[in-house]
Amino acid sequence: MAAVSAATGLKFVYDRLTDEAPSQDRAAYQPDRYGKKWVPVLISWSTPEAAPELAGSVAGTGGSTSIQMPGEPYVYVSGQVLLDAPALSETLAYPDGPALVRAVIMHELAHVVGLDHVSDPTQLMYEENSGQLDFGAGDRAGLALLGTGKCVPRM
Ligand SMILES: [Zn+2]
Repeated sequence: MAAVSAATGLKFVYDRLTDEAPSQDRAAYQPDRYGKKWVPVLISWSTPEAAPELAGSVAGTGGSTSIQMPGEPYVYVSGQVLLDAPALSETLAYPDGPALVRAVIMHELAHVVGLDHVSDPTQLMYEENSGQLDFGAGDRAGLALLGTGKCVPRM
């Protein structure tokens, strides 16, 4: 979170633990669970059995939820990060394990703030794990640009 915050200039606020399960069709507004506001970013530790999108060698997924009101631009209001707990737990035992797990989480959080994959394997936003442990110059340029997006507080 700190690395993405530093690269974007965006501030993240810890909301709380939740019993909400990850879902591909997660509602962006759940007033009974979170009150009258957009749902917070959900970070879930799951398994390929419980979350099919983690099948194969996918260590994690990340994405954002955007909303558009008539006459207004699309704005990101929330997002999700889904992490393969058993696979990442196993990765922690590797020599660079903690740094690798950190890199996976940074990659997925960068998706949450709007960064897509790039074709350059020296960047953390390359689709496959290429051994990058930190954001590259291109990643940082994209994250900095995303951080300049206008806030739309009335939505
Ligand atoms: Zn990705």
